[in-house]
Amino acid sequence: MKKEVKKVHITPRRRFFTNIAQGTGMSIMGGLLWAGYAQKAKSSALTLRPPAALEEEDFLKTCIKCGLCSEACFNRDSNRDKETLEHRPATLKMAKAQDDATIGTPFFVPSEVPCYMCEDIPCVPVCPTEALDITSVSNDKGELDFKMMNMGLAVVDSNSCIAFWGIQCDACYRACPLLDEAIKLEYDRNERTGKHAFLKPIVDMNICTGCGLCEKACVTEKPAIFVRPRELVLGKPGDHYVKGWDAKDQQRVAQQSDKDMTTHTERSKSEAVDYLNTGVDFE
Ligand code: SF4
Ligand code: SF4
Ligand code: SF4
Repeated sequence: MKKEVKKVHITPRRRFFTNIAQGTGMSIMGGLLWAGYAQKAKSSALTLRPPAALEEEDFLKTCIKCGLCSEACFNRDSNRDKETLEHRPATLKMAKAQDDATIGTPFFVPSEVPCYMCEDIPCVPVCPTEALDITSVSNDKGELDFKMMNMGLAVVDSNSCIAFWGIQCDACYRACPLLDEAIKLEYDRNERTGKHAFLKPIVDMNICTGCGLCEKACVTEKPAIFVRPRELVLGKPGDHYVKGWDAKDQQRVAQQSDKDMTTHTERSKSEAVDYLNTGVDFE
């Protein structure tokens, strides 16, 4: 089987603008055009990176665009069609000018080809610069653990997911490699009919790897479950909120010294009795 070597394609358009910039310097018009082009060459906030990728800013500084991860993904043994033994398209693609990712960097689009969560994660150890950080997918014994992958997070749009309408569908649930862990089906009574049940897919953010197999399997015209970078879909409650039922959170607070405690509002500088009755006239 001929091995396909993925190369970054230098388009005539890119060469044209590069020549303008190098040969004539940045005229005002050239500067504007170049700025527009450079903007397009930047990654979209929606770009999904390979397993174990560093955070986006560090990833872009570290990835040398060699394509070894994408090659390893394409050439992995599990990527052959069972009947023809031909290689199927790789999950990881190297961005070209028309893609929404920095040119030459690896990314994937789950609705086209999801990540199959290979147990040996072949794309990661081949990275020569640690832009794909093998320690982030290695357990305490130093063994690769595909459950530790972290590419994004699956989000369910409950308005378009037909399971939330009461129609039986568990396509995403069945497709998940971490079945009944990353997605669970939550039983709920259908009050409208009074005799049917909802089986709603619920994603566990602590377990989902963002592989996108659920997105690929979703039966709706536009997937009602889809993967996005975690920082795009997750909120942040702030360190001053404490989960009373979580031993680790309790420990975190117990270890904080008084000087670590910060006052967040003007009002919280005062005792409650100092302000609760402010403005109230007592007769
Ligand atoms: S783990 Fe995912 S991205 Fe890596 S080689 Fe396997 S399918 Fe490709
Ligand atoms: S193997 Fe590493 S350095 Fe090479 S393209 Fe992939 S992420 Fe970038
Ligand atoms: S992205 Fe979907 S299929 Fe993959 S682990 Fe998360 S819930 Fe499961």
